[in-house]
Amino acid sequence: MSAAQWSQREQDRFMGKQYIDYEVYLVNVDPDKCDGCEKCIIYCPVDVFDFSIKAYPNRPQNCLGCRTCEAVCKSKAIIITEI
Ligand code: SF4
Ligand code: SF4
Repeated sequence: MSAAQWSQREQDRFMGKQYIDYEVYLVNVDPDKCDGCEKCIIYCPVDVFDFSIKAYPNRPQNCLGCRTCEAVCKSKAIIITEI
């Protein structure tokens, strides 16, 4: 194996390690259901939500998929989807 081939293989292995457990979540808030209780803002451990009359997911890229927000939202306004 040439040095270039070895280097490419090592890069591929490195990328595989980096992304093998990579997960992305969609965070959706239905504004028609949200009653403005702010519990999702209080309980989300990574500060996904902001609030202006209703909650909205301003930093969905932070989401860990813990589904705490779904559990505390009595209005069932939040849906977390793994993609
Ligand atoms: S927990 Fe549900 S009802 Fe309360 S602010 Fe968040 S989305 Fe709205
Ligand atoms: S699933 Fe967890 S991390 Fe993601 S928005 Fe809800 S509370 Fe925050």
